[in-house]
Amino acid sequence: MSKLKVVVIGTGVGGAGAAALMQHRGCDVTILDKNPYIGGRCHSFEKDGFIVDSGIHMFSRGRKGPLAEINSIVGGDLRWLTPRTQITFVIEGKYRLPYCQPIYDPEMAMKLAYIAGMSTLKSLGGRGTASGRKSIMNNSLFRIMKREGGITGLIREMINLVSINEIYLCELDDVTVMDFLLGFTDNLMIHQVVAYAAMILTSTPYTVCSAGEMLWSMMKQVYASSFGVPEGASRAIPVAYIEAMQRDGGDLRLSTAADEILVNNGEVTGVKTENGEEIPADVVISNAGILLTSEMVGEKNLPADYYRRAHELKTSYSHITRKYALSSKVADIGSNGVFNVPDMDPETMFDYVDNGTVPDDAYMFTSIPTEVDHNLAEPGRQLIIMGMPGPRSGDKSTADHCNRILEKGEQKLFSYFPRVKDHIDWTVQTNSHYYSHMTGKPTGDSIGIGQIVGQTGEHKPQIKTPIKNLYLVGGDVGGRGIGTELAAAGALRVSDLIMADPAHYGV
Ligand SMILES: Cc1cc2nc3c(=O)[nH]c(=O)nc-3n(C[C@H](O)[C@H](O)[C@H](O)COP(=O)(O)OP(=O)(O)OC[C@H]3O[C@@H](n4cnc5c(N)ncnc54)[C@H](O)[C@@H]3O)c2cc1C
Repeated sequence: MSKLKVVVIGTGVGGAGAAALMQHRGCDVTILDKNPYIGGRCHSFEKDGFIVDSGIHMFSRGRKGPLAEINSIVGGDLRWLTPRTQITFVIEGKYRLPYCQPIYDPEMAMKLAYIAGMSTLKSLGGRGTASGRKSIMNNSLFRIMKREGGITGLIREMINLVSINEIYLCELDDVTVMDFLLGFTDNLMIHQVVAYAAMILTSTPYTVCSAGEMLWSMMKQVYASSFGVPEGASRAIPVAYIEAMQRDGGDLRLSTAADEILVNNGEVTGVKTENGEEIPADVVISNAGILLTSEMVGEKNLPADYYRRAHELKTSYSHITRKYALSSKVADIGSNGVFNVPDMDPETMFDYVDNGTVPDDAYMFTSIPTEVDHNLAEPGRQLIIMGMPGPRSGDKSTADHCNRILEKGEQKLFSYFPRVKDHIDWTVQTNSHYYSHMTGKPTGDSIGIGQIVGQTGEHKPQIKTPIKNLYLVGGDVGGRGIGTELAAAGALRVSDLIMADPAHYGV
């Protein structure tokens, strides 16, 4: 019996995971990437003794999520670092909230209750006045908290509400996060925090982000309580998968771009590379995203509505970054990162991304990876990566806008850590064009297609394409989740789907 011949296009988390799983299950896998390195957006590079993520990564369910599941199936070498406090939220520019694991952690619950109380007082008229006290009593959040037993009761109630019922979550796919939240509270600070959370989890504004998708992702993270990072920076994930695949006999070809997906009578037959080589395949799995995959298949081979939709789907925003290599450890916030929640109207918080301006207050997603993984730099040195939402378009002309956004973020960073600016050895930055070049797509999106109302749940593009034996894997397709975990979950599903197809036995 001959082995199923599988060609995977792309070594992003989804492609690398699918390749390792298929090889482990007895297929004969060749994986290609146009880049000279492994990992797509989950790549890390080395510079002057630092190992630096080309993105800025934290992993929602770490050692308990789909990334770890693939590693354990294929026998990979991935190891996780899971600190109790992974990040610190800075709210209204002054309150510091450690995000502790588990979420019931008493330190976190007490701080959260204090901050929520102070914010309610501020927005509803102040502690001293009778009208202030009355407004607090009438505030919907306050009523829920009173009924359910304080802030921990509220959190428990929220978890109960959404965690047990997948059908309910599906209904929420067609509701925006903002509208869902307004059903509970109009507390400004809570809306600001949730708008921030929607952006960080899905790279989309909460005014359009799908509530079903975001709640699913959040609740999975809360339950797992294993938010963390892999040892050796983000690249350790795709590298562990590819090394496992190679140990099992699979073939990796870097700097090899697929140019065409070969199709005969509606069935895939192989891949043609940019230099004209034809690689025959029983199955092709594309990690290049639905848009580029449709282009490689060709309009004439696809149903018109599929081809059109592939071009109409809206992507997530980009996250652009500036990285600071520091000569000594001068930023200390007791965790692996700072999330600055902008003190702005949550409805318009991210309008700057589309209208070419800079925000009044900077949304910052700042990771200090050397706080958790001490092997990412020489002893005593520190790495900070500061990230902010940036334009979707990967066109070079967006570079100036990206610069201006990052300048604003830098001002905020220096206001929190004034000593940083005197200890910088070097900085590098990544913009939307950088990610577009990395993935080969016209957009610099950080996730893939946006997890917005109309594009999640049953509306999401499927792993199976209209072409027989051509499958998609990666951020654009399949199930639910956050960034890399969405891609990994798709890899698990695609390999199950292919191996369950009786047509593939006895190849
Ligand atoms: C700044 C930033 C911060 C992020 N933060 C987080 C985070 O904290 N947590 C998280 O989970 N996620 C995060 N993400 C998202 C995460 O990085 C992505 O969702 C994930 O890595 C995408 O994986 P993928 O499988 O879709 O593959 P991709 O990364 O899209 O890789 C696709 C690969 O296919 C290759 N390819 C494309 N076309 C061809 C072709 N024709 N021939 C050969 N190869 C081809 C590309 O070269 C690339 O290597 C972040 C992203 C960015 C940019």
